[in-house]
Amino acid sequence: MTTALTGATHLHAPRKLKVATVSLAGCFGCHMSLLDIDERLLELLEHVEFDCSPLTDIKTISSCDIGLIEGGLCNAENVQVLREFRAHCKTLVAVGACAINGGLPAQRNQRDVGQMMCDVYCSHNGTVAGSQVPNDPELPLPLNHVHPIHEVVHVDYFLPGCPPGDGAIWSFLTDLLAGRTPQLGPGLIHYD
Ligand code: SF4
Repeated sequence: MTTALTGATHLHAPRKLKVATVSLAGCFGCHMSLLDIDERLLELLEHVEFDCSPLTDIKTISSCDIGLIEGGLCNAENVQVLREFRAHCKTLVAVGACAINGGLPAQRNQRDVGQMMCDVYCSHNGTVAGSQVPNDPELPLPLNHVHPIHEVVHVDYFLPGCPPGDGAIWSFLTDLLAGRTPQLGPGLIHYD
């Protein structure tokens, strides 16, 4: 397979770039799409090293070149993790509809979150009498609304799609690693 990644990356990246990824209020579909680049993953790994990511199970982020963020912000922990990523990543990318505009989880923005929790945990069909909304202090507090990540931190690039296809992810990373401004052709952008 011939790709633009080989060669161009050598010109701009004498060392392996460190990449971190995270899923905030997302479904991991964007991570699955990243894995859909299949054997190109091996070529990618010649040029990048994954740091904190569900792909490595490394829990703590260190200084990174690129941060790929899946999912928007639905609770306080999401905000904290996003701020940590922003502080540690030179380039931050909002990957997918949820990170870019809240996506499917933002459907709940039409409803009162407190009432919704009561409906789900206390009065929904099948709940046991006396059921209560979980309130363990370990649980992150939900936000009143689901927010896209650019409302909290500066985002360098947006990669649309739900999820972005493997071709879009590959094209995007190819450009980024080669030091070019990523530009997706019309065939690579879709919103479904
Ligand atoms: Fe899942 Fe789509 Fe959101 Fe990605 S953008 S996390 S695929 S719902």
